[in-house]
Amino acid sequence: MNLLTQHKRMAELCVGCGLCLGFCPTDAINLKVIRGVVTVNFDYSRCTRCNLCIKTCPALYNLYGRKTTIKASVGKIEKVFFSYSADNNIRYHAASGGVVTSLILYMLKQKIVDKVLVTKMEGLTPTPILTNKKSDVVSAQGSIYFKAFSLRILKKILYSLKKGKRICIVGLPCQILALKKVLRGFEDKLYFVGLICGHVNEIWFLQHIIKKYLPENAEPIAIGPRKDGWPGEIRIFFKLNNNFKELAVPLPKFWGILPSLNISSPLGCLLCTDHLASAADIVAGDAWHPKFTGNTSGVSIIVARTLKGLRLVEKAAKNELLYTEEAGLRDLLIAYGFHLIEGKWYAPLRQKLLQHSITVLRELDEIDKIIVLLLTIITTLLKFKTTRRLVHTSSAEKILKYISWFLSRQKYKKLFQMAAFLNGQTISSSS
Ligand SMILES: Cc1cc2nc3c(=O)[nH]c(=O)nc-3n(C[C@H](O)[C@H](O)[C@H](O)COP(=O)(O)OP(=O)(O)OC[C@H]3O[C@@H](n4cnc5c(N)ncnc54)[C@H](O)[C@@H]3O)c2cc1C
Ligand code: SF4
Ligand code: SF4
Ligand code: SF4
Repeated sequence: MNLLTQHKRMAELCVGCGLCLGFCPTDAINLKVIRGVVTVNFDYSRCTRCNLCIKTCPALYNLYGRKTTIKASVGKIEKVFFSYSADNNIRYHAASGGVVTSLILYMLKQKIVDKVLVTKMEGLTPTPILTNKKSDVVSAQGSIYFKAFSLRILKKILYSLKKGKRICIVGLPCQILALKKVLRGFEDKLYFVGLICGHVNEIWFLQHIIKKYLPENAEPIAIGPRKDGWPGEIRIFFKLNNNFKELAVPLPKFWGILPSLNISSPLGCLLCTDHLASAADIVAGDAWHPKFTGNTSGVSIIVARTLKGLRLVEKAAKNELLYTEEAGLRDLLIAYGFHLIEGKWYAPLRQKLLQHSITVLRELDEIDKIIVLLLTIITTLLKFKTTRRLVHTSSAEKILKYISWFLSRQKYKKLFQMAAFLNGQTISSSS
C-alpha cells in the first residue's frame, strides 16, 4: 500500500496518541478538525516519505498487526490490588482512587524518577506536561475522555532521557505500547503507568454533550476531566449573556449510551486489543466491582505487571501513601471482562470489516457479533453530519438503550466462557 493511502488510513483511524506528531523528523504532521473529528493532517511540502509515522502508529497497528488471545489481553500479572490514596484530598479530586497521582508523587519525592508525563485540560484542549512539580501533577488529576495527543511532546521526553533523566510516563495502553517501540534502549530509565481504557471519544461527542446539557446560546470555554468524588463528574465552563457559569455533568450522564456502545469512539479504538495496558509496569482502573457499589469515595484496581511495578506499589503501601488490599484475576474479570471481550472477539471482526475482507461474513455465527458489526457500520457513518443528527434524537437513544441491554446479556455469556477458560490457565508470571 502506498504512503498516501497509509496516511489517509491513519487520519481515518487516529486514536489521538500523538506519537506521529512528536516523532516525525521534519514536523510534517499537524492536527485539523474534519467533520467533528480531530485528526492528523500531512504537509507534503515537508514530508520526506521516511515511513516512520506509518511504522509506529498504534491505530494502523490495530488494523493490520493484531490478533490476540485472551491470555495476551489479560497480560502478565504479578499481583492485583484494590487500592486508593491515603491522602483524602488526592483521593477525592482524582478520577477513581487517586492511586496514579499518589504513586507518581511518591516516585518524584523518593527521586525514583526525575520527571513525569501527565496530561491536563487547558480550556478545551488536553495538554501534556513533562514535569517534576507537585502542583502540576495534582492539577492534572482526573480522566480526559477525548483524544489528548499526549505524545506530541516526544522530543522533550527524548531530550530529557538523553540527558540521563529518569521518567515516569502516565498514559493510555496504545500510548505506552507505541512509546515503548520508539524508546528502545532507555528501558532502565522509564516507568510506565497505564490507565485501563475502554476508548476515547471524538470531539463531536463533546458537541453532543454541550447541546444536551447546556442552555441554548451558551458558549463553552473549558471542560474539566472526570474527577471529584466517585464515580465523579465532568465540569463544563461556559459564557451565557456575558456571565460566566459552570455545570457539572455526572459521569453516568456523560458516559451515556453512545460511548457505552462505542459509537462515539474513533474507529481505531474499535480495533484495540490492549485495553488493559499489557506493556505497562502498573495499570490502574476504576474498581467497577460489587464490593464497592454505592461507594462515593473512589477505589481503583491496580495491576502490578512487572517486579519493578510491584516493588513500587508495595513500598508506597508500606509508607502509608496507599491503602492496598490484595485482589485477584476474578476481580479483574468482574471489572474489565467486557474490555477483554472487545479485544478478543469484536476487534478482530471489525478489523476484517475495515479491511473490506469478505471473510468477515464467515464470523457472523453469533447474534452479538452481528450487532457489533452493525454498530461499527453506524460509527463509520457518523462522519456525516446528518447521520450524527439522527443519533442525537430521543427515539434513537431509546432503541440504542435496548440494543445495549441485549448486547450486555450476550456479553455475559462470553464472560462466563472466558472465566472458565482462564481458571484452567496460569497467568501470573510467578506461577
Ligand atoms: C480515555 C480513558 C478511558 C478510560 N476507560 C476506563 C474504563 O473503561 N474502565 C476503567 O476502569 N477505567 C478507565 N479509565 C481509567 C480511569 O478513568 C482512571 O484514569 C484510573 O482509574 C486512574 O485513576 P486515579 O484516580 O488513580 O487517577 P488520578 O490520580 O486522577 O490521575 C489520572 C492521571 O491520568 C492522566 N490522564 C488523564 N486522562 C488522560 C489521557 N486521556 N491520556 C493520558 N493521560 C491521561 C492524568 O494526567 C493523571 O496523571 C480510563 C481513563 C481514560 C483517560
Ligand atoms: S493514532 Fe497516534 S500515531 Fe496514529 S495518526 Fe493518530 S496521533 Fe498519529
Ligand atoms: S513519512 Fe516521515 S516525514 Fe512523512 S509525515 Fe511520516 S514521519 Fe513525517
Ligand atoms: S481503546 Fe485502545 S486504542 Fe483506543 S485510546 Fe484506548 S488504548 Fe488507545
